[in-house]
Amino acid sequence: MVCFYHPDRPAVGLCKYCQRGLCSDCAGLVDDSLACKDRHEEEVRALEEMTRQNILKSRRMRSDYLRNAIFYGVVGLLFTAFGVSQLQWLGLQAVVYAVIGLALLYAALANYLEGRKYS
Ligand SMILES: [Zn+2]
Ligand SMILES: [Zn+2]
Repeated sequence: MVCFYHPDRPAVGLCKYCQRGLCSDCAGLVDDSLACKDRHEEEVRALEEMTRQNILKSRRMRSDYLRNAIFYGVVGLLFTAFGVSQLQWLGLQAVVYAVIGLALLYAALANYLEGRKYS
């Protein structure tokens, strides 16, 4: 591979923005990525910023889902346990509690599975 701007020189890497080969004179360093010096440094900086924000965002989404899963799971377990334990005294009312509990447990599972997509 040779430099896109100097075909007689070997490339040391690729511009992250345009994927062209760059020699050591043409390569500008933006964070840990290479960019065409004075051409694509701003673009690569923007790309880096976008990637960083996406990582932060997906981490936040993941923890939101997991927090919901824990909340639904705990409340769901309480409702289910209460419903089952009161079944012989409350009858139908206890069944309603148990069903709500199971629905919450299902929501907890759905949130957990959704959160795993963002790992
Ligand atoms: Zn470039
Ligand atoms: Zn060059």
